[in-house]
Parts: sequence; structure tokens; C-alpha cells
Amino acid sequence: MNYIIFDLEWNQSSGAKENKIEKLPFEIVEIGAVKLNENREMIGEFSELVKPQIYHEMHYITSRLVHLQMEELEKGKPFVEVMKKFLDWCGEDPVFCTWGSLDLLELQRNMTYYEMEPLSEGPIKFYDIQKLFSLAYEDGKSRRALEFAIDMMNIKKDIPFHRAFSDAYYTAKVFDKIEDPLVLEKFSFDTYHLPKDKESEVHIVFSNYDKYISRLFKDKGELLSCKELTDTQCFKCHRNLKKKVKWFTLNGKHYYAISKCFRHGYMKSKIRIRKGEDGGVYAVKTDKYITKEEVKKLLEKRDQFLEQKKLKKDQAVTD
Ligand SMILES: [Zn+2]
Repeated sequence: MNYIIFDLEWNQSSGAKENKIEKLPFEIVEIGAVKLNENREMIGEFSELVKPQIYHEMHYITSRLVHLQMEELEKGKPFVEVMKKFLDWCGEDPVFCTWGSLDLLELQRNMTYYEMEPLSEGPIKFYDIQKLFSLAYEDGKSRRALEFAIDMMNIKKDIPFHRAFSDAYYTAKVFDKIEDPLVLEKFSFDTYHLPKDKESEVHIVFSNYDKYISRLFKDKGELLSCKELTDTQCFKCHRNLKKKVKWFTLNGKHYYAISKCFRHGYMKSKIRIRKGEDGGVYAVKTDKYITKEEVKKLLEKRDQFLEQKKLKKDQAVTD
């Protein structure tokens, strides 16, 4: 097993002259990567420029971020050729690692655009090093720029930033310094390709929470009537739990419920409803144990919300 830490540079429509292609808002212009073995030692490098086929003008944001010129890119090879070479170089069963979750998504969008075989049949397990950095050194929620992490960890800046290879190289350096096993178990899932059916849905248990990625549903109504999603079960002892607080939402996208396991206490379940790449919706459900104090806080938030909603409604009636 090898870790493939990769980074992409991409360009986008520069507006007036070139129209944006809906299916490919970001055209990859460079792929850079480093390969690490199981002990996270660097054992390979990859760096290729991609010759643009769609957007031939550098977008001003891209040209500011990426130190690349169009003339340079014209010397690159077409995407399909570079991608095949990259996948060959990755070898079998690579574990992808990226800074943030966008690179894996855009890589697959570009592959689909060129009708390449999909990277995977379903969700891809990967390491989001930006998230791991936050879990290891900050609150787990913040998302920092790569250079911030490099500075904080006193990593030597021996090559310039903002080229695909250098960003992959620095991401690997950050990854190498993360030792905490509780952080290293927190891999992410890319959901560009969703589970095809019920059998291939993702169920995973971490030390302090669990995660469930559902298949695609036609709409929110169909999703919320799926009992498997709305039933709650203790992820430690697998008992079916009775809900203390039934499912409620504050924004129509995130739903919460609270159940109680007599052995493990209060469990908060959360369903995030997300849109599929080509329509439909799917759910990412997580369960986590919370304190009585946290239960109280969540209920206060709900009651405040309901109160405001009622006030608005009353006002509408009197208006
Ligand atoms: Zn339990």
C-alpha cells in the first residue's frame, strides 16, 4: 500500500471570451504528486503539465494563484495522456491524500468529461490532510492554508509554493508529522460516485462517532422516509434506541435527533442532506455521544428557532 499525495492546478473560464462549460468548470492544467510508502517515506515524485483543451485564457484568479503561463502549458500533454500516466505511476490500491477535498472531486470531473473509466464504483476513502491538521493542532473545524500549517510546524520552505508538485510535497511533510492514532483513523470519503445500492452503502465506526453514507434518493421526501436512516441505533452496543427528541431541522438541510442508550448515554444523530453530482439527494448521517449539557443546548437552539418561526407566522396573520 502506498500513499499518493497529490495536488492539482486548474484554470477556469475567463468570462466574456470563453463560455463556461457546465460539466467542467475547472480544467486541470497541472498534476503534481509524491508517493509515500507505509512508513510515510518518500519513494516517488510525479509532475506533469496538462495542455489546455477548453479554456485557453488564464483566468485572473488562476494566474494570480498559479505561477504558470499559457505558453508553458501549451508544452504539456493532453489530460487523458497525463492521467493515464499518473494512474500507472500510482500503482494498485493507492490511498489518496490531498489538502482539502476539492482536488479529488475535480480530478474525477475532468476524468468524466473525457469519458475515462471511473476511479471507483463508489465513495473513495482518502485522507484530507487539511482536516487532519485541524484535528491534530486546532479545533478540528478550522481549515487553514497549507502555508499556515508549514509555518506552524516549522517545516523548512525549501521550494516555492503554489505549483502542483510543491504543494503535494509540503502536504506530505505535514502528513508525516501527524502521529496521533486517533487523528490518523479519521479518513474522509469522496462522494463523487455514490453507493450504487443499499448493499454498497458506507457504514463506518470511528472511536467517538460513526458515519453512514447513503445511496442516492429521488428527493428529500423519499430520503427522509427511509427507516434505515431515521431509526437510531447505538454504534457501540448496536441496540435499537428510543428517541428522546424526534428529528428536527433548523435549516432544512441538517436534521437532528437525540436518543438514549441506557449503557452509553445520550446519542446525537445528525443527517446532512446533500445534492448528488447529477441530481437527486443523499445523506451523510453521523451519530455521536453528547453530554446532558450539550443536549440542553441543542434543545434551546431548537426552541428558539420554533419560537421565532411562530412569531413570524403570527405576524404574517396580523399583517
Ligand atoms: Zn449503547
